[in-house]
Amino acid sequence: MSIRVRFAPSPTGHIHVGNVRTALFNYLFARSQGGKFILRIEDTDLERSTLESEELIYEDLEWLGLDYDEGPKKGGEYGPYRQTERFDIYNKYAEKLIEEGYAYKCFCTKEELDAEREKASKEGRAYIYGGKCAHLTKEEIAERQARGEKASIRFRAFKPTILVQDMIHGDIEFPTNAFGDFIIIRPDGAPIYNYVVVIDDALMKITHVIRGDDHLSNTPKQALIYEAIGEKAPVFAHIPMILGPDHAKLSKRHGNTSVEEFRKAGYLKEAMINYMSLLSWSSDDERELFTMDELKEKFSMKRVSKSAAVFDFDKLKWMNGIYIRSKEISELLELCKPYIIESGLADEKYINENKEKLEAMLLSVRDNFTLLSDAPEYLKVYFELSEDITEEAMEMLNLPTSKGVLDLFLEKIKDKEYLDIETYRAIMKEIQKETLTKGKPLYMAVRCGITRSTKGPEMDSVATILPVAELTRRIKATMEKAGMA
Ligand code: GLU
Repeated sequence: MSIRVRFAPSPTGHIHVGNVRTALFNYLFARSQGGKFILRIEDTDLERSTLESEELIYEDLEWLGLDYDEGPKKGGEYGPYRQTERFDIYNKYAEKLIEEGYAYKCFCTKEELDAEREKASKEGRAYIYGGKCAHLTKEEIAERQARGEKASIRFRAFKPTILVQDMIHGDIEFPTNAFGDFIIIRPDGAPIYNYVVVIDDALMKITHVIRGDDHLSNTPKQALIYEAIGEKAPVFAHIPMILGPDHAKLSKRHGNTSVEEFRKAGYLKEAMINYMSLLSWSSDDERELFTMDELKEKFSMKRVSKSAAVFDFDKLKWMNGIYIRSKEISELLELCKPYIIESGLADEKYINENKEKLEAMLLSVRDNFTLLSDAPEYLKVYFELSEDITEEAMEMLNLPTSKGVLDLFLEKIKDKEYLDIETYRAIMKEIQKETLTKGKPLYMAVRCGITRSTKGPEMDSVATILPVAELTRRIKATMEKAGMA
């Protein structure tokens, strides 16, 4: 049997993290088993679905690197892959279900159904359809239709129990009187999710349905429809929910929740994929860092747990830092570029013309940040002299030795354009000898003179990346501001 799985988002916006994990597990399962991964756009909710949102889904999947084998734009043997293009198919199957007695036309109006629902709620029982239209004769139906009455199509819960087989939850037997006969096509012709999902999965030869366990309660209805159309149900795998750190369902109030928000906030796709893979899945060797290729090999549905996963924002950030540090510096610069430009530190032209310099700057700070968007804050020291001298820096500059160190430093760099590391280090040694100042008072004086702060990247980098003219300007300005001139 060749494995076929699908990701079936509704196009209502950027992909939410919960759905990223669903897409990822489907993808990894398919890739680890040599199967096919299909993208199906579930756009039957015409009010909420838009083509723009569909584009966002393609963008998000592309950014994440979740390539699919069949889909709306890509085509494939089992298309179309957009549900609004499949209405004829849904209608054809609905007619067949009616012919065979598995479904019937229901003329009950919204008011009638609301009243039934209200009565059930007053009596404290779950609502199920009362069955008023369950046994209309052909003549009655024809007559009501001739009168212009609109009908929905209702599926008959034709047996008392239905078995659902789930890779994660095991076998579950559901009583069908928990939901009764249910609508599959609305009076306006709009088909309902529980129905179309079955027709599509069956016709697209989906072998495994991997999705969030919020759909577990829909599954008995779907399993009944499979039986009615004479198709074997796929293997289900309902993966647990993702919770926020407070163990409530992950939502906006916990922070970023869509792929796009994470991308914009400066997360790398490698970190997203790696972190999301660990939400309810774990490797047998307790390893936590995986590339996509390693995941494709390692991933197994058998190791997906039943319990909900807690989204740990700090851990994702930590992981992001690891991936930032493992990037080739030229690639990291490309990734940081939009953030640098947005911060106003440098424009695209400057960055492109000074790649080597920018890479050296980035290399000197990249161990210190965990989000791409943090880069400008750390790089700032190279682009501007901060307005204020920090308190700690002021303390260092106030040491009795600092003025002598800085005067001498200025003197020794005077005729140069740039310092290289050897020259910088040699100069520092000479100053040490000549002023008998060493350690912190020596190095901090120079650092604080140039950056007005006791923190920041290695001086080996700062002193060699900035031109001597700039070092000189900064030291003089700082000495003046600190009253050392
Ligand atoms: N469109 C449904 C959703 O996004 C698909 C559910 C399913 O995978 O069956 O929740």
